[in-house]
Amino acid sequence: MSQQLECDVVIIGSGAGGGVVAERLSHLCEAGARVVVLEAGPHYLREHFNMRERDMIGLFLDKGAVPSSSFEIAVSAASCVGGSTAVYTGVTFRAPQGLIDGWSRDFGLPELSESDIQARFPRLEAEIDAHFPGAEMENANNRIFREGCEQLGYPVKQFRVNIRECERCGFCNLGCPYGAKRGTLEVQLPRAIERGVELIPNCRVLSVREGEVEALLSQAPAGTAAAPYALGPLRVRARRVVLAAGTLNSPALLLASQLPGLSPATGRYLTLHPALMSFGRMAEPVRGYEGFPKLHYTDAFSESHHYYIETAFYFPFVTAKSLPSFGPELKRFMRSYDRLTCALTLVHDEPEHENRLHLRGGRPQLDYRLSRRSREAILHALASAGRIYFAAGAEEYVSPVSERFSITGPDQLEDAITETAFQSGRVVVSSAHPMGGCRMGHDPEQSVVNAWGEVHGHPGIVVADASIFPTSSKVNPYLTIMALAERAAERVLAGL
Ligand SMILES: Cc1cc2nc3c(=O)[nH]c(=O)nc-3n(C[C@H](O)[C@H](O)[C@H](O)COP(=O)(O)OP(=O)(O)OC[C@H]3O[C@@H](n4cnc5c(N)ncnc54)[C@H](O)[C@@H]3O)c2cc1C
Repeated sequence: MSQQLECDVVIIGSGAGGGVVAERLSHLCEAGARVVVLEAGPHYLREHFNMRERDMIGLFLDKGAVPSSSFEIAVSAASCVGGSTAVYTGVTFRAPQGLIDGWSRDFGLPELSESDIQARFPRLEAEIDAHFPGAEMENANNRIFREGCEQLGYPVKQFRVNIRECERCGFCNLGCPYGAKRGTLEVQLPRAIERGVELIPNCRVLSVREGEVEALLSQAPAGTAAAPYALGPLRVRARRVVLAAGTLNSPALLLASQLPGLSPATGRYLTLHPALMSFGRMAEPVRGYEGFPKLHYTDAFSESHHYYIETAFYFPFVTAKSLPSFGPELKRFMRSYDRLTCALTLVHDEPEHENRLHLRGGRPQLDYRLSRRSREAILHALASAGRIYFAAGAEEYVSPVSERFSITGPDQLEDAITETAFQSGRVVVSSAHPMGGCRMGHDPEQSVVNAWGEVHGHPGIVVADASIFPTSSKVNPYLTIMALAERAAERVLAGL
């Protein structure tokens, strides 16, 4: 028989969306209410983040790569307390001006307004210490990117990042051992817990209904915090259910729960910001692995060709797997790891009906095809990144889409980076920004939730994560997710 738990609000997931909802509702606990967070992943603490790629893979869902059925793209998301905010880099973008009004206009959401969401950003940024870092934070990888852009006349801009007393160790994506990265693991969840919110890690929700959630509690990995419940099935009754399991899981949970009248749009219109790494090799040491990895980006081709190029630097395994070769060539290039520069191109993809999450054999399955527009954007972006690095003095450039491994001058870029070299399954396209699947909208045939995240026909279930985006945000999405989650929390509070 299942263990039973009664509460006022149950929150599923503790990432950017769930963590914010937990903190905002924690004041209810001070007034005697019971708020519970069920998180599928373990509760790792700072001291577990040992900066080793092999050990930290456990922070991620499916070892860091959820592939699409065609193997054209693989999505990365975390599965631990803090969700993907435990492994994100902390690049903090406000939603571009006009995005929210566009959603409001195009999806029949007059209750959602640009001014409301934009007004939340400065306060949210202050809450998580998001700021423009000073010049002392610019490592050589970021400087080379900036100089290359300046040489070419590409506008080069800075990100806000949400770090406090950063030790510049460069291991942000393996969990911050110093607690400097101000995700929900460090900011909202500790505050929520202090005020009385109950966090149950290793607790995977299997189905949701209005007023009730079925979950399964598993063994906590050695050394991680465990909840005081027996392992096995757990039934949670709650006045409100908040679903914040992220784009890879929230739509799947709704589908698995077979809610009556669920929208046919459930799981559909996914966008991923398809991303590719490319590399310059410099004559001098760069040591891109030292210091904070991401500070600059260019939006030179955002309007015309639909992409951003951002600075980035990754660990040896991630770098090696992203290079388009094996054997001696790969070995030669990896030997110059300390002289590499790295950029990440991110495509603004469009929501399409066929790009979806669905269930196969009860498991979430991702169907996603790159559109012609996205493929063209990728080719253009990889050539632009090459131009940036050659302008900054690179001796060699390696693009994941290329007729040849080594490109040694800007005049070779056009001939090398071609559509014929873009073979599906052979090129590592990745994504860390899954969005959509429970999109907001007025029409229940075309959307899953309303402007506050309430599931059409089931207002007792509120979705508060990236899955409610009707289109991609174009920019790194977490701050926008937080703003929408805060709004969802206000709705829940008002309802209670
Ligand atoms: C490596 C990496 C780097 C990134 N860098 C940036 C960046 O610099 N800037 C930026 O804006 N964005 C970045 N992102 C993206 C950002 O982290 C996500 O967009 C954001 O965290 C998504 O929030 P969410 O609440 O939708 O989901 P998540 O934060 O992913 O949280 C979902 C949570 O739900 C839990 N869950 C799932 N299913 C269940 C279930 N059945 N039962 C219980 N719990 C469940 C998961 O374990 C997870 O903890 C990055 C992502 C990654 C992976």
